[in-house]
Amino acid sequence: MNVAKRTFDAVIVGAGGAGLRAALQLSEAGLKTAVLTKVFPTRSHTVAAQGGVAASLGNSTEDNWHWHMYDTVKGSDWLGDQDAIEFMVRKANEVVVELEHYGMPFDRTDNGKIYQRPFGGHSMNYGQAPVMRSCAAADRTGHAMLHALYQRNVRANTQFFVEWMALDLIRNSEGDVVGVTAIEMETGEVSIFHAKATIFATGGAGRIYYSSTNAFINTGDGVGMAARAGIPLEDMEFWQFHPTGVAGAGVLITEGVRGEGGILRNASGERFMERYAPNLKDLASRDVVSRSMVTEINEGRGCGPDKDHVLLDITHLSPETILKRLPGIREISIQFAGVDPIKAPIPVVPTCHYQMGGIPTNYKGQVVVPKDGNPNVPVSGFYAAGECACASVHGANRLGTNSLLDLLVFGKSAGETVVEDFKSGNLTLKPLPADAADVSLARINRLETQKGGTEVHDVRLDMQRTMQKHAGVFRFNDLLVEGVEKIKEVAEQAKTTQIGDKSKVWNTARTEALELDNLIEVAKATMISAEARKESRGAHVRDDAPDTAENPNGRDDKNWLKHTLWYSEGNRLDYKPVNLKPLSDDVDPIALAKRTY
Ligand SMILES: Cc1cc2nc3c(=O)[nH]c(=O)nc-3n(C[C@H](O)[C@H](O)[C@H](O)COP(=O)(O)OP(=O)(O)OC[C@H]3O[C@@H](n4cnc5c(N)ncnc54)[C@H](O)[C@@H]3O)c2cc1C
Repeated sequence: MNVAKRTFDAVIVGAGGAGLRAALQLSEAGLKTAVLTKVFPTRSHTVAAQGGVAASLGNSTEDNWHWHMYDTVKGSDWLGDQDAIEFMVRKANEVVVELEHYGMPFDRTDNGKIYQRPFGGHSMNYGQAPVMRSCAAADRTGHAMLHALYQRNVRANTQFFVEWMALDLIRNSEGDVVGVTAIEMETGEVSIFHAKATIFATGGAGRIYYSSTNAFINTGDGVGMAARAGIPLEDMEFWQFHPTGVAGAGVLITEGVRGEGGILRNASGERFMERYAPNLKDLASRDVVSRSMVTEINEGRGCGPDKDHVLLDITHLSPETILKRLPGIREISIQFAGVDPIKAPIPVVPTCHYQMGGIPTNYKGQVVVPKDGNPNVPVSGFYAAGECACASVHGANRLGTNSLLDLLVFGKSAGETVVEDFKSGNLTLKPLPADAADVSLARINRLETQKGGTEVHDVRLDMQRTMQKHAGVFRFNDLLVEGVEKIKEVAEQAKTTQIGDKSKVWNTARTEALELDNLIEVAKATMISAEARKESRGAHVRDDAPDTAENPNGRDDKNWLKHTLWYSEGNRLDYKPVNLKPLSDDVDPIALAKRTY
């Protein structure tokens, strides 16, 4: 096949919040920048973000970044790296105000400042009471943010390649990254994007689970590409189940609903979170609320004929508040649950929402791997930001509205690092290896010629059911052990997928088959890392690691205060230390403690 070649200073894969924020930094600095995206930029999953973006502006209640740092470290169950967390919370105000200056239409307080609402796990004075920290544009914050960033990029002359799917990372014999291969979905032609810097911002992979709040395009492509190219994946056992997906549909009801005063109730109408989290109640962190809901359901206090969900009640709020602050939620509830939340509570269940792990990076957005005894050596030419990356600021559990913040801070930071490296002459255009496109062409050729293979949708469904059953909200040793074998079998089946449609133009069957290769890498990484981690921490809670005096909440800091690294080749596991030291010498580390809300 004839492979065209395009050359740029930088190529960014992904046009969600992280990709667009990074692109802006590069284009405004005058770098020739290409952004590849499977969908039109403003259709990236960031558009679906509802609740807000965290920053300790303190517009309505007193706040400061020390409290935000404490909440984030505690939320992460101490698995987050404290240097990266300090960096993120201290940059928060700058990137949010910057966004406002780009034209982001935030809601306002009565005195004209950016409106902020309470969110789970965000607190005043080190866990004492909820704080108003999440900056919101009604319940459409991501939508507003993505449009503001896109328009700014148009102004900066960022070059978009819309409906182009990146296929594989290109590394030279030294392991440096020199670009990606990509397929133009409209024509089926494969091209090489040769660049001095490659930034991955491909978002999450929630579609490895059967029930997910994620868009269909969230198939972990960047994570899969990195894994196939020999980059380890960090902390992939940690997945966030959002407490409030619409029961039966999975569509998200933002935590902002509880921020505005919404209450979770069981079959007898009890506000059960008072028993599990006496301080923050319905605004405890997500892993805690999800587990409490599942416990209520498992113990027979669920609602509905099958007792399989709980209720989210906002009938006590005024209709004006609901219409002003949560208009999108009301619409979703009417459409997907058949319930007008002004009049009746919404049926909800925990649903897969967010991957805490990903491609390992430092706070500068550089992808880092272990080399010669150093666990964090930058891979030359390779950067990542957003949900596909693991900086690691979310550790074992992310706080709501810290992801949009992560996109802005680390998108910008990755961009700044590239610009610095570019200006100092550290970034050069390294020659492409002769076989640069061979792996991608072989993958496409296999799909052309495969006979007697498996069906893509069968394999995908098998994977999704396996993940849902064997690596869900609660984890059980025997199910995890079985899950590892099952997911390896599914991965074998994925090697022989076949497609009936061989046409070149807009072949969605081929796109789905190529996406499945990425989903499978993510699923294997998750199951194998989860089986191996023999403790409970954050979103990873095992039946055989219970709460004891020695290991509060089942967390075993003596043996497991470390990041997992999973290598695709041979399903090998490795570990590296958590950075418990903040970035600045004059900032005290957040000391290890039992996590209660
Ligand atoms: C329903 C929902 C609500 C949420 N609400 C909030 C909230 O209120 N606050 C908060 O902080 N977080 C929220 N989150 C989480 C947050 O929105 C996401 O983590 C974040 O938007 C991810 O942004 P991203 O830039 O990393 O990726 P995305 O926005 O997912 O964008 C990924 C981009 O990569 C492109 N891409 C992927 N693969 C390829 C490929 N192979 N080739 C080319 N392009 C590719 C896609 O086309 C897309 O442009 C929510 C998430 C969901 C699902």
